[in-house]
Amino acid sequence: MSSSYDKCVRCGSCVKFCPLFDAVGEEQFSPRGKIYLLQIMDQIEDDPELAKEFRQLLFQCTLCGRCSEVCSSDVDLLKVWHEQRAKAVEMAPEEFDYLDALRNSLANVANIYGLDPEDRAIYWLDELEDDIPGLGDRVYEKGKTADTMVFLGCLMSFRGSQMDVLRSLFTMLEEVGEDYLVMGAEENCCGHPLYLMGDEKGAAELRQHNKSVIEDAQAKKVVTCCPGCLIQLREYHNLEKVEALHHTQFFDQKMASTPIYEQTEELAYHDPCELHRILGIKTEPRSLLKKLGVKYREMEASCCGGGGLLRMTDPGLSDIIIQARAAKEKLKDTVVVTACPSCREQLLASENRTKDIVELLADASKGGAE
Ligand code: SF4
Ligand code: SF4
Repeated sequence: MSSSYDKCVRCGSCVKFCPLFDAVGEEQFSPRGKIYLLQIMDQIEDDPELAKEFRQLLFQCTLCGRCSEVCSSDVDLLKVWHEQRAKAVEMAPEEFDYLDALRNSLANVANIYGLDPEDRAIYWLDELEDDIPGLGDRVYEKGKTADTMVFLGCLMSFRGSQMDVLRSLFTMLEEVGEDYLVMGAEENCCGHPLYLMGDEKGAAELRQHNKSVIEDAQAKKVVTCCPGCLIQLREYHNLEKVEALHHTQFFDQKMASTPIYEQTEELAYHDPCELHRILGIKTEPRSLLKKLGVKYREMEASCCGGGGLLRMTDPGLSDIIIQARAAKEKLKDTVVVTACPSCREQLLASENRTKDIVELLADASKGGAE
C-alpha cells in the first residue's frame, strides 16, 4: 500500500464503510471527500477558511482504518490521516489548543487525567487487594523482576468503570500461575494519544521510561488489555527480547482449554478496530470464546466511535456513531463482548451492557456467570 493519495480514482468504495460518513451523510466527512480536498490542496491553501475546515475534518475521524482496508487503489489512507494530522497541528497549533490540557497532562504527569503518577496503583489496589491476596506485592518497584509485566494503560489504571475487568484480569493471572508484576507508578502513558495527534517526539519521550522499566524487570512478555497501548508497545517501544501481547493472546496461549461459561444472556462480539484491523489480532479472542463454549453473534466490523481521539475532538459525533451502531445491531437485550477498555467506555457511556472476554474467563473459572 502507498500513502500517495494521487492514486485515488474516486471510485467511492470506501465511502459506505466510513462510520463518519454513515453518521453525517456528507461527502467531506468521507475518506473520498477528504482525499479529494487533499488533491486540490493548492486551491484550498488560497482559501484560509476552507483550509481550516479541512484541518478540523482530519480530527473528525476515528482512525478506524476501514477505508484503508477496502480502498480499491491500495492507498494507505490510515497513513495519510496520520501524516496529515501531524502537518495540520504543526501548521496551525492555535486551532488545536483544545488538546493542550491533554498534552500538558502527559508532559507533566505522564497520564491523560492529570493525576499524580503515584495514583496509578492506588484505586484498583485499594478495591481489589482483599479479593486477590498478595496483589500489593505485584506492583513493580526497582529491583523486582518477573516473567511478565502487566501494562494497564491510563484508562484501566484510573477509571472505576474498568474495575471488573481488572479483577478478572488479576484473578486469571493468578489462576494460570503467572509470575507477573504490574507497572504501577512507574508506568507512563504509552504515548498513543500523542501518536494519534502526530506528536511523535512527545510520544517517544513517554515510551523511553516504559522501555527501561520493562527491561529492568527482565520481563520476557508485556501484556496489556488495551489495543492502543499494544500498538505502542509492539510497534514503537523498541523492546528487545520482550514479546508484547494482548491479554486475549496471552490467555489463549496459556489455556489449551477453559471451563465452560454458563451463559444466561445473549452475547455479541464487537471487534475493536485497533485490535483486529490494525494489529491483526482476530483469531485469539474468537478462540477463547470457542473454548468457553459461548454462543455469540458477530457484529459488523465497524467502529464504536471512540477511536482516533474523536471522543475528545467531537464528542457529539462520537455519540452519534455509537448510538447508530447500537440501533443497527439491536443491542438493547444483548451484552456486547469486547476486548478494549476504550470500546468499553464508549459502550457504557451510551448505556449498553458490555463484558471484556477476560470477565467471561474469570466467571467461567469460578463456576458460571453472576
Ligand atoms: S479511518 Fe475510519 S473514520 Fe476515518 S476516514 Fe477512514 S473509515 Fe472514516
Ligand atoms: S476506495 Fe480508495 S480509490 Fe476509491 S474513493 Fe476511496 S480512497 Fe479513492
